[in-house]
Amino acid sequence: MNVLVVNCGSSSLKFQLINSDTEEVAAKGLCERIGIDGRLVYQPAGGEKEVTEAPMPTHTEAIQMVLDALVNPQTGVLKSLDEVEAIGHRVLHGGSKITESRVIDDEVVEVIDECCDLGPLHNPANLMGIRACMKLMPGKPNVAVFDTAFHQTMPPKAYRYAIPTKYYTEYAVRKYGFHGTSHSFVSKETIKYLGLDPDNSKVIVAHLGNGASISAVQNGKCVDTSMGLTPLEGLIMGTRSGDLDPAVLEFVCKKEGFDVKEMLRILNKESGVFALSGNLSSDFRDLEDAMNDGNEDAALAIDAFSYRVAKYIGSYVAAMNGIDAIAFTGGIGENAGIVRKKVLSYLGYLGIAMDEEKNKIRGERCILSTEDSKVKVAIVPTNEELAICRETVELVNR
Ligand code: AMP
Repeated sequence: MNVLVVNCGSSSLKFQLINSDTEEVAAKGLCERIGIDGRLVYQPAGGEKEVTEAPMPTHTEAIQMVLDALVNPQTGVLKSLDEVEAIGHRVLHGGSKITESRVIDDEVVEVIDECCDLGPLHNPANLMGIRACMKLMPGKPNVAVFDTAFHQTMPPKAYRYAIPTKYYTEYAVRKYGFHGTSHSFVSKETIKYLGLDPDNSKVIVAHLGNGASISAVQNGKCVDTSMGLTPLEGLIMGTRSGDLDPAVLEFVCKKEGFDVKEMLRILNKESGVFALSGNLSSDFRDLEDAMNDGNEDAALAIDAFSYRVAKYIGSYVAAMNGIDAIAFTGGIGENAGIVRKKVLSYLGYLGIAMDEEKNKIRGERCILSTEDSKVKVAIVPTNEELAICRETVELVNR
């Protein structure tokens, strides 16, 4: 089955056309600057990247350009759009009502719409993508794969905040968690890869990318995760602060004359390792180079990031009363050996021993722990598009 996987942001759209039988990507690309001017980058498998600049006032024109590229007689990979059998959409927020991926019908559209309040940057864009696909490919099944769904198995003690109940009952303020597609995919892959018992396993997934989150997965179900009502909670990230004393907001707002909105922008866009490194970079490649050149701020940023990850792992070992495996994924988790080494250096008490040679590996699935390590540690690359494709096929065939 050919599945078009679509991931819409407010002014961008990433896509992959995946053959679900071979799980190979036939073509991929992205539309940028939607609503501004418009630029399509399209790449067929094994072919050159093509860049087309053309007006894309809305996501509908963007999707139309993607579809035209897919059937283009020269560089397209399809003879006709009839060959696209289903469309899988990444959707940020499904609130508490959505606990798994769903074939999109009026009710699902309504829930995504209701959750715009909780995901104001993403849900409206996700809906635009869904509506554009429904309009341009009528009759094809569309499936929504939610970033929050995998975390819906968390118990109340993990997802409730200790604030007045009214905020939960009336405004749905609670921990939701994000990157669920990745945590679900990587935890399942880890269980298979390491030969663990799916019904008797305790796995921690550290999804460390520009956005970073960590989850505790017991018997295949999420029991806790680090992101919260929004993706701001938890780990230190590229430009997000992660956990901090909420009183910092009022304190800095008063000193600088900011309002809460401006302060949240700073906590989302100007904080994290970027801030700790003295605004040097949010990219761990730059931070590592700077640290090796003796930059102490860069070294602090890497240290603080790794320390926070290790603290979360410790707390999730407590949450599950044990641990069988830790999986590193995401751009940093898959590539930055320095971070993995620092994180694991805090976890010797768990009987973890790492193979230093293996830790030099970048971006490939491998077992990092030694034979005698009490806990298995692995790099398990994430593949959210493939996860969305698999979910889409499962639902369409159900
Ligand atoms: P992601 O959001 O998962 O795509 O991860 C992006 C981040 O991964 C970048 O901002 C870098 O911090 C990090 N990253 C990517 N490649 C490398 C690499 N080769 N070495 C270290 N860090 C990397």
